[in-house]
Amino acid sequence: MRPSELLCPRPEGLYCGPGDFFIDPIRPVNRALITHGHSDHARSGHGSVLATQETLDIMGLRYGDDFAGTTQAATLGETIAIKDASVTFHPAGHVLGSAQIAVEHAGLRIVVSGDYKRQPDPTCAPFEPIACDVFITEATFGLPVFRHPPDSEEIGRLLKSVSQFPESTHLVGAYALGKAQRVMRLLRDAGFDRPIYIHGALAKLSDYYQSRGIDLGDLRPATIEGGRKDDFAGSIVIGPPSAFADRWARRFPEPIACFASGWMRIRQRAKQRGVELPLIISDHSDWDELTETIQETGAGEVWVTHGREEALVRWCELSRLTARPLHLVGYEDEAE
Ligand SMILES: [Zn+2]
Repeated sequence: MRPSELLCPRPEGLYCGPGDFFIDPIRPVNRALITHGHSDHARSGHGSVLATQETLDIMGLRYGDDFAGTTQAATLGETIAIKDASVTFHPAGHVLGSAQIAVEHAGLRIVVSGDYKRQPDPTCAPFEPIACDVFITEATFGLPVFRHPPDSEEIGRLLKSVSQFPESTHLVGAYALGKAQRVMRLLRDAGFDRPIYIHGALAKLSDYYQSRGIDLGDLRPATIEGGRKDDFAGSIVIGPPSAFADRWARRFPEPIACFASGWMRIRQRAKQRGVELPLIISDHSDWDELTETIQETGAGEVWVTHGREEALVRWCELSRLTARPLHLVGYEDEAE
C-alpha cells in the first residue's frame, strides 16, 4: 500500500480512507481525531471526536459541552481500532493534552505529529519520537534562522526587567492555551512567588491546568476597577496578545509591553507590534528540533504540513529522504 492510500489531504483536512476519519479537520466531519486544543486544530461541530481527555476538556471549556455529537477519550500509548486502521496517541510536548497520532494499516505506519516541540515544558508531557515509515511534521519555524534559546533565559530577562523598573507593570502577551500557563509556571520555577495578574480570557484555562495538577501559584484577576491603579506597579500581568492592543492595557501604570512567542526572534516583528521586551518562548520546534526529530523517527518519507515548508523539504531531500509539502490550509501561522 502506498502512504497516500492511508492518509491524503482533502479540503476538510487529512483523511484516512481505511479508517474513514479525518485528523484535525477544519470543517465539520463525521469522525474527527484531534491532536490538541488550539482552535485551528480543534473545531466544534464534528459528529464524533477522539482525542486525549485533556483535549476533550479544553474543547468543552472553549465551545461548551455540546461541541461534538459524541466524544471518546484516547489514552496515550493505547491502540484503538477504527474500521481497517489502528491509531495510537503519543505525547507531543506542545500544550497540555497535545498528542501525535500514529495511524497504521497493512504494516505501514504514518505519524501525524500535529504541533510539537522538544524543549522541556513543565506544563505538559514530553514529546516521544515514534518510529514510522512516514512522518508528518509542521514547519512553523522551519528556517535555519529560527533557534529558540532556553526558556529559563527568557524568563530571567523578564524578571531582571521587573526588578530594574519597580514602578512599571510588565504586560506579557501570551496565547491563552499553553503559552500563558507555561510562562506562569516558568516564573514560579524561577522563584517568582508574588501574585500573577491575569486577563479574564485566561481564567478558565488556567484554572483547568491547576485542576490537572499544574501548580501556577497565586493567580488574581487583572482588574483595576476594584483596586487602585498603583496596586499594579511592579507586577506582572499576563493576557492574550490581542488584549494589549486595546484600552484595557493602557490603564496600568507605566506599562512595558512584553510578548512571549517564537516570532520574537525577528526584531522587525517585535517592533511592528510595539513590543518593548520580546521573549523568545515558543511551543513549536525550532529548526534544530525539526531536523533532529525527523532523523530520530527513522522515517524514510516526510510530509510537511504548515509553515515554511520549502526549506524543510529541501533539507530532507539533501538528507536523502523523500519529502513533500502537503499545502494544508486553515492552520494559523502563529496559533501557539
Ligand atoms: Zn498548536
